Amino acid sequence: MTQHPSKAFEPLYRIVLATHNQNKVRELRQLFEALPVELLTQPELPEPIEDGDSFVANALIKALAFARACDMPSLADDSGLEVDALGGAPGVHSARFASGPDGKGDSKANNEKLLRLMSRERNRSARFRCALVLALPKDDPIEAAFSRLPGAPQALHVDDPAFSAYVFEGRAEGRILRTPVGQAGFGYDPLFLSDDLGLSFAQVEGAKKNAVSHRGRALAAFFAALERATVLARP
Ligand code: IMP
Repeated sequence: MTQHPSKAFEPLYRIVLATHNQNKVRELRQLFEALPVELLTQPELPEPIEDGDSFVANALIKALAFARACDMPSLADDSGLEVDALGGAPGVHSARFASGPDGKGDSKANNEKLLRLMSRERNRSARFRCALVLALPKDDPIEAAFSRLPGAPQALHVDDPAFSAYVFEGRAEGRILRTPVGQAGFGYDPLFLSDDLGLSFAQVEGAKKNAVSHRGRALAAFFAALERATVLARP
């Protein structure tokens, strides 16, 4: 198992990330830096097929597969763009919108397809959504603490009596632009005018985007619950 090299203290809580995407691993390690949490990766484990029909379902598939294989808490995220005029598309197909499920995710082709489909549309409203799922062995101390929290995190149904799972969701509302704006970010960022910022997500650097983004908001909800649960779980 690969450990975070820069953690000098004995961490209070260990979580395996249910992804092999190194960008996500790096971003999550930065975001977790201030918490007494050690993030592990498990590069030998295959990533499961994400065939769920929602962000929550896909994040649950990933988190549960890694939690079961490692018998420890596992965190997964799934995210994408929902455009109202397209009935919520591309949604769970955001990464491979242009190529189809067996193709390679190509942001340029995805953005071109989105612009084409939206060229005559006056209703431009859209949102990014993110589902973060933490899957836990039932005997994990955080599991007991989560279930006792006032305003407890939302528990998901898990088809395995030895595990439970909790979901944290975030969304960012905005509008689809008519041409790409900005150079930063990735994916659909240049076409997404954020309601919160009045700028496209590609016009701002990481911290500004994280403060209002779907992923930033889902993580903030998770951190708040984890911090409260960590206090409760201490002997
Ligand atoms: P994933 O499943 O979280 O890796 O993301 C699925 C796809 O949604 C990505 O490949 C992007 O196309 C899109 N997406 C998710 N989050 C963002 C974002 O913050 N900005 C731009 N595109 C995003």
